Amino acid sequence: MPINDLIQHDSSGGQDCVCGPTEQPVKGEDGSVRWMVVHHSLDGREQAERPHAQ
Ligand SMILES: [Zn+2]
Repeated sequence: MPINDLIQHDSSGGQDCVCGPTEQPVKGEDGSVRWMVVHHSLDGREQAERPHAQ
């Protein structure tokens, strides 16, 4: 989860966050597969939309 992001992330563990998180399978050391919720930072998008200085 991005730290100090521009938006408030829902860290309740679900996929109800405003950033539209995705689930990725993560293999543990014991071979078990867990589903980790991956949040997306909006910082990069904000910077990309910023017009270039001339
Ligand atoms: Zn999020």
